[in-house]
Amino acid sequence: MVRVETVIVGAGLSGLACASLLEKHKKEYLIVEKSNRVGGRVGSIYENDYIFDVGFQVYNTAYAESSRILDLKNIDLQLFKPGSVIHNGKKFHMVSDPIRDPKNLFSSLFSSLSSFSDKLKVLLLIYELSNYRIENDISFDMTTLEYLKQRKFSEKFIDLFFSPFFSGIFLEKDLKTSSKFFKYVFSNFSKGMACIPKNGMQKIPDSISNNINKENIFFDHALIKIDRSKILSFSNSIDIKADNIVFTGGSENLIKKKSAKYNSVCNLYFVTDIDIKNGKYIHLFPKDDLINNIAILNKVSSSYSASNNLLSISVLGDFSTFDIPINSIKKRLSNYFGGSESNYDFMKRFDIKRATIIQNKDFFKKRSSFLGEGLIVAGDHTVTGSIEGAVCSGLNASNYIIKR
Ligand SMILES: Cc1cc2nc3c(=O)[nH]c(=O)nc-3n(C[C@H](O)[C@H](O)[C@H](O)COP(=O)(O)OP(=O)(O)OC[C@H]3O[C@@H](n4cnc5c(N)ncnc54)[C@H](O)[C@@H]3O)c2cc1C
Repeated sequence: MVRVETVIVGAGLSGLACASLLEKHKKEYLIVEKSNRVGGRVGSIYENDYIFDVGFQVYNTAYAESSRILDLKNIDLQLFKPGSVIHNGKKFHMVSDPIRDPKNLFSSLFSSLSSFSDKLKVLLLIYELSNYRIENDISFDMTTLEYLKQRKFSEKFIDLFFSPFFSGIFLEKDLKTSSKFFKYVFSNFSKGMACIPKNGMQKIPDSISNNINKENIFFDHALIKIDRSKILSFSNSIDIKADNIVFTGGSENLIKKKSAKYNSVCNLYFVTDIDIKNGKYIHLFPKDDLINNIAILNKVSSSYSASNNLLSISVLGDFSTFDIPINSIKKRLSNYFGGSESNYDFMKRFDIKRATIIQNKDFFKKRSSFLGEGLIVAGDHTVTGSIEGAVCSGLNASNYIIKR
């Protein structure tokens, strides 16, 4: 039987971050990963000169711990323009980001969506949340929608800005997500910029995995059982005995610990020869019953498509057992961006059932990740459902092991 000091279950960002610190401290570890690649929920497919990220997601330059362990020069982050282009059912409104760029709050463009008092309230929120940390927030939790109403934002502003913008991040339309996560995301957006690596989101896990010895990752190893003496059994190989086990990706359910529940999303890719104005902005569609948001990825990083515009479309919810009406999407695209349906070619579809974790009210009540006897739960759900949360959870686990 193989014996190893620490086994990390999962080569997502949390597992990789954990391994990178153990490697730095010359600790013995092994990552076991059920798939054949690093990155877990962050990944890209490289096909026919296109880059298809598996689900639309962005990095935020305010992610402090992630920025410390990533080789940012190599990743070469490409920035979205701060703000969004919102289609109100009739036409597009260009909205300079009221969070990052408050001086634009008072521009005429923004005025049509919000009242003077909404603008002042945004400024106040930016000020109050500038150093926000969930762990220091002892306030009574509520849903994001309740929080925005409590702060007396107008319904129009909630419907046309907060709701489409944050539903694209939470991947749920009702803003049921904990107000604490809202405050965390709002604070990050006021400090940082949304961006993607030049050559796809996959470059984020790839960059962390450059800090770890590749021989210490066992791919195609699905952990199926753990016994009381910390012997791990896999479907395809010999057993491994470990002193410490770091669970990520919900693998703690093998020791009967509850793991997270997820929001789902369907991510569609289309290409078009139609030129799209303001392509560096995320486009939001609060009045569309299918399309929540669209990003024109090659406008942000030309590596995503050498020729045509590549549209990444997010449809919120679990459509894995449904047909998505591709012709109807094409029709909507031609209404929004011009041309006819034949100008839009469907390229790819990803149904991501386990996308962002559900972080409803009271999600952030104190829980311990350290279960004793070398059993440690990591993963984004132990910190925040984000790239930064996953990285922090992995670093927390390795720091615990190093001190132990
Ligand atoms: C569509 C989408 C959009 C998102 N948008 C954003 C965004 O814009 N910004 C942001 O910051 N975050 C975003 N996120 C969230 C972010 O991607 C995650 O928080 C982060 O990647 C989670 O990393 P993790 O290591 O905790 O979990 P995972 O990535 O789920 O990794 C867990 C790993 O463990 C492996 N595993 C599980 N069980 C076993 C087992 N029994 N044996 C072996 N291996 C196992 C899995 O195969 C997986 O590789 C988004 C996520 C999705 C899917």
